[in-house]
Amino acid sequence: MPRVVVVGTGGTIAGSAPTAAQTTGYQAGALSVSQLLDAVPALGTVARIAGEQLASIDSKDMSLALWLQLSKRLDSLLASDEIDGAVITHGTDTLEETAYFLHLTLKSAKPVVLTAAMRPATALSADGPMNLLNAVSVAAAPVSHGRGVLVAFANRIHSARDVTKTSTFSIDAFDSPEAGPLGWVHDGRVEYGRRVEHRHTVATPFRLARSAAAPVTDAVLHDALEPLPMIGLVTSYAGASRVPVDAFVAAGAAGIIVAGTGSGSLHHDLQLALAEAVERGVIVVRASRVGSGHILRNGSAADDRLGFISAGTLSPYKARVLLMLALAAGMREFDVLQAAFDTF
Ligand code: ASP
Repeated sequence: MPRVVVVGTGGTIAGSAPTAAQTTGYQAGALSVSQLLDAVPALGTVARIAGEQLASIDSKDMSLALWLQLSKRLDSLLASDEIDGAVITHGTDTLEETAYFLHLTLKSAKPVVLTAAMRPATALSADGPMNLLNAVSVAAAPVSHGRGVLVAFANRIHSARDVTKTSTFSIDAFDSPEAGPLGWVHDGRVEYGRRVEHRHTVATPFRLARSAAAPVTDAVLHDALEPLPMIGLVTSYAGASRVPVDAFVAAGAAGIIVAGTGSGSLHHDLQLALAEAVERGVIVVRASRVGSGHILRNGSAADDRLGFISAGTLSPYKARVLLMLALAAGMREFDVLQAAFDTF
């Protein structure tokens, strides 16, 4: 039987409310990972399970320190011959950011699957137990190897690169808007419909800790990853203000992601502030607030000439994760950074 480790970090999947009718006003991360595992005896028919509690937080409070801890812990668990795959239970709020951070930093081809829930564990028709069973099925399946970090939610399997939370309350709360899901999981059956094209896990240079398996040539870049640099996030809108850009520059941000309108277009006041930021050595990346689509380069020649990088299909939140890692790994030149956004 495959051996799967389930790492608990908190979230609504481990949430507890005073009554079964309550789906708001609960405490996220109240239950331990062993309580979650005990509630799903069917897990034992899919894999040999070990549980580990790494944190018990509401994922709105996710920190960079916890990301680093999670990535390093998973790398060491996955390096063991005793583990075939890992599942992470997480809150839905920042799940897509954690998933993409791990997608870029983990150095294993073994399946790593995040899952979560929209209803607390104590609720009527809680969605967590089935999501957990499906996530373990995905992590235990040999066909899941080499696909990067996955998210199993509401019977769909998504890539960490593409997935995003699309509903504040529906139990079908995640989607991969531009690319579609990678596959599906039903009653223990795991099926994939496509592969991830952008590079991930073992094929990125973002290594947090030197592992015994790492080639010597691949080790140097990555000792510089900590502390991760400050990257600001600003939005364009009617009547946009340059105040947040100036504040981030004054605070010493190494980069700024701008969630532009449409295909990453920018209010002229914001564009001017960002162009001045570039002149002061701050890296600026254009993403979009729209939620799907691509940041087209040929339509925004002025932005390209001003030295703004295109996030391509990455959301502003994931663009921030990639820029943080790229700058920490010593990438500075426009062409190198743009290539990173096109590659990862
Ligand atoms: N606030 C919760 C969290 O992200 C929401 C959830 O898990 O659905 O931890």
